[in-house]
Amino acid sequence: MEIKMKCIHCHENEPNKESGLCDSCESKESTKINGLLYLPALGLCVSAILTPISFIKYFSMLSSNLPSYVVYYLYAGTFILFIDILMTYFSAWTFFKKKKSIKKVIISYYIFGTITALYFTILASYLFNMPLTTPDIRALTSAFVGLIFWVPYFLLSKRIPMVFSK
Ligand SMILES: [Zn+2]
Repeated sequence: MEIKMKCIHCHENEPNKESGLCDSCESKESTKINGLLYLPALGLCVSAILTPISFIKYFSMLSSNLPSYVVYYLYAGTFILFIDILMTYFSAWTFFKKKKSIKKVIISYYIFGTITALYFTILASYLFNMPLTTPDIRALTSAFVGLIFWVPYFLLSKRIPMVFSK
């Protein structure tokens, strides 16, 4: 006797050959944050931890005795980081709540992230005549990956409107 295959998830309906899932489970699966989307999810979580740490670091430098142009640089820097914290948390909320507005929100987030990275690496190196450090290169690289890879992905991927539909 032939054994009837069941969906590997609900164990009720007949599965499709390719996925092993039934139609209803397949459509549920396609609205989840999974696969490639784990990467921007991880990026947002890491930023949610690291950006406030940088903010505290620069904010605490403000109290020390420094030449006025350095103080201006730090003031502007803490302001940029403060905006970056708000944008990170708003993007993370929009992302994990699977809001329709994710495209606009996350693209602004990646663009602002690049401006922030440029301010603390290229501009700092130019103003204070210092060579770029390894963490600088790392910060720039991750900002440009966001800009060059994730912006087009969020704009063009067919999965985005399926997952972010609330
Ligand atoms: Zn199923």
